[in-house]
Amino acid sequence: MDGTSSLWVTVHGHAHPILTQAIKDQVDKIAHTTLLGLANIPSIQLAKKLVEITPAGLTKVFYSDAGATSVEIALKIAFQYWQQHTDPQQRQKKKFISLEDAYHGDTVGTISVGGMGLVHATYRDLLFEGYRVPSPHCYRCPLGRERDQCNFACLQVVEDIMAEHNREIVGMIIEPLVQGAAGMITAPEGYLRKIRELCTKYNILMIADEVAVGFGRTGSLFACEQEGVSPDIMCIAKGLTGGYLPLAATLTTETIFEAFLGEPQEHKTFFHGHTFTGNPVGCAVALANIELIEQTRLIQHVQELAQMLSVEFERFKALSHVGDIRQKGLMVGIELVRDKETKEPYTLEENIGHQVILEARRQGLIIRPLGNVLVLMPILAMSEEELRQVLTITYQAIKNVTERVSQ
Ligand SMILES: *Cc1c(COP(=O)(O)O)cnc(C)c1O
Repeated sequence: MDGTSSLWVTVHGHAHPILTQAIKDQVDKIAHTTLLGLANIPSIQLAKKLVEITPAGLTKVFYSDAGATSVEIALKIAFQYWQQHTDPQQRQKKKFISLEDAYHGDTVGTISVGGMGLVHATYRDLLFEGYRVPSPHCYRCPLGRERDQCNFACLQVVEDIMAEHNREIVGMIIEPLVQGAAGMITAPEGYLRKIRELCTKYNILMIADEVAVGFGRTGSLFACEQEGVSPDIMCIAKGLTGGYLPLAATLTTETIFEAFLGEPQEHKTFFHGHTFTGNPVGCAVALANIELIEQTRLIQHVQELAQMLSVEFERFKALSHVGDIRQKGLMVGIELVRDKETKEPYTLEENIGHQVILEARRQGLIIRPLGNVLVLMPILAMSEEELRQVLTITYQAIKNVTERVSQ
């Protein structure tokens, strides 16, 4: 049983006949036709659909082929937007703000705005510099505050940087609601909305990386919806094709698009083209995926499953080595700790997450850890019964391994 949606991508399940058919039908017509100077029918239809379903104001679609490329494109568009600004003052804007522990992909640009520390340390000299702000990690607050008395101290840090440096800041990139690869760090309610307000106030572009959270994962089609936020640029990938083919898109506003219009000799073009950009087979299955989300009322189903999860997690919280459970929709991190009282983590050598997932695998469930955090990313269309099975195995695996280790 798949408890991680392969790698956070599967929406309707594996080998879904409708999605498979959409791929077959398109391959029978044509498998590749370039988007350089042309378009193909599925790419047009999908772009239209994406504009309809994404937050208001996002009206332009730029295709690529992976989450990292969609973010890379977002960074370049944002940077070039200010470089082409009619007000020369604005051309001083060259730096990004990003969050500690952020993950936006593994290319040079995306790790420059990433906060994965050790994982990317080797490349430090290769990366461009920017501003880092603490993540809204309430269980282990980087500012040492307590959730109910902090008065959003982490947002104050963001505002201080923006107030002082906005003249040199291009944009702020953020994973809305949940920082996935960081260990499912869920932002407190209101955090994302406030980031949007601050970006607007200080004339900074807001880039939402919805690569992991998009397509129903957090209980709404896009995470930004939950706080009524429209970003200036939005990146989508993972769930876009229901997990069937690599495809990504970067969406942006009319205002940004217009800054790239001009005569050829003005060189305002956005020169960025991947060979497989807007691949028709990928676009065809993405369209089928979105139609199926609508037809099966999948978002409502996700909300029901999420509700059930939060009830079931009460039992998990009683386990003596479950320190924190972070859940947003069907995106879950269960943090295991050596000592619940002091939040003392397990050591690297103990490799606790890995041990638990091996135990779960013996019971027929595939899940993956992020260090000491167990990740549950159930397939969105899973039945309640299947999800209960995932929980039963996970619970038992945590219990068995943590009891064994603490002996
Ligand atoms: C997975 C992920 C990416 C990178 O996507 P790839 O398709 O692996 O390049 C970027 N941002 C977020 C938030 C992700 O979860």
